[in-house]
Amino acid sequence: MKKPFVTQEQLQNIAAQYPTPFHLYDERGIRENARRLKAAFSWNPGFREYFAVKATPTPAILKLLREEGCGVDCSSLTELMMSERCGFGGEEIMFSSNDTPPEEFSMAHRLGATINLDDITHIDCLKETLGTLPETVSCRFNPGGVFSIGASKEGFQVMDNPGDAKYGFTRGQLFEGFRRLKELGVKYFGLHSFLASNTLSNEYYPTLAGILFQLAADLKRETGCHIRFINLSGGVGVPYRPEQTANDIFAIGEGVRRQYESILVPAGMGDVAIFTELGRFMLAPYGCLVTRAIHEKHTYKEYIGVDACAADLMRPAMYGAYHHITVMGKEDAPCDHIYDVTGCLCENNDKFAVDRALPRIDMGDLLVIHDTGAHGHAMGYNYNGRLRSAEILLREDGSTELIRRAETPEDYFATVVW
Ligand SMILES: *Cc1c(COP(=O)(O)O)cnc(C)c1O
Repeated sequence: MKKPFVTQEQLQNIAAQYPTPFHLYDERGIRENARRLKAAFSWNPGFREYFAVKATPTPAILKLLREEGCGVDCSSLTELMMSERCGFGGEEIMFSSNDTPPEEFSMAHRLGATINLDDITHIDCLKETLGTLPETVSCRFNPGGVFSIGASKEGFQVMDNPGDAKYGFTRGQLFEGFRRLKELGVKYFGLHSFLASNTLSNEYYPTLAGILFQLAADLKRETGCHIRFINLSGGVGVPYRPEQTANDIFAIGEGVRRQYESILVPAGMGDVAIFTELGRFMLAPYGCLVTRAIHEKHTYKEYIGVDACAADLMRPAMYGAYHHITVMGKEDAPCDHIYDVTGCLCENNDKFAVDRALPRIDMGDLLVIHDTGAHGHAMGYNYNGRLRSAEILLREDGSTELIRRAETPEDYFATVVW
């Protein structure tokens, strides 16, 4: 059974202070999880998690992660700007973007970020943009073909099979690219790959590590390049459904260690640092969308209308993604009603749940929509003139802090030229 990280009483108090809907984040859960990840990879002295900013671009959250020793993975100018304002700099920033506007390379370089190139043609683009190349450059690998370890149906919608995904260098291009970068004066190299999203398998990272470690050993042998880090990127998933089993990050860390010992160490590469760029795994379970039932409708189906909509959480509309719902105060009541839980957008896919068995919902009930801490508020949009909700941090001491206010009509109109 999935349990919210707040009690009904706590949530009633919070909702008395802040109008629904809002995203609520759990400081304790975020910190404990970040510490587990760090412990799982503590066998690797250079290990660092670079949190994928796009998953939760909220400064208070980024600062929390920084306190836990994480860096940031940015993919756009504004993510770089936000990271700079949160105090990240130099090696704490990874810049992994694609189809990159050249000025974003400049900004990343100015901050001392490690640049992770998506394509062989970006080598010359980077050289023209910066004049001289940085000491360290990373390249993203795409092995092509199909890859299915642990991937969910929704994961495929996010990433597709490697052969159909727009990201990364081919194997041949990597060898050519590393040689060219070396000629242009690059001293240290990184290797990155992202093959599947939201994986529920302790084998995803170890399998990916096996592929990348072997490739790194081949690259070192054939090009003489000094590979300083291998970035396993994102993709470790979370159990959105109550019947799913969570990944065991210690088993994952141990699986990667075994590949490291059997491939990198014999290749004389026992100094390689392991990096991750997790988004969903770091945050999804430690955030929820809190909303209130405001209408019930009985037509061909039973509908519960809530005060949140897809503008606050797009994943169900976009991917048909499952998000568990708890009706607060009715945790132990029988799920003897079948509802569609809807938002107000003039889009029939604006439904947080379809044919979901839930306890009887009364108007005014608070609903917790689980696992919205990553790719939740971040994917929000303003369709239908809907305004995005506030974000609130539940501190370890039980107090709350408004970390992003809700949008106002003034925000919505701010870009209009009347
Ligand atoms: C989105 C993204 C991530 C994070 O992915 P999750 O599935 O949230 O772990 C990491 N790296 C890059 C380059 C990404 O685009």
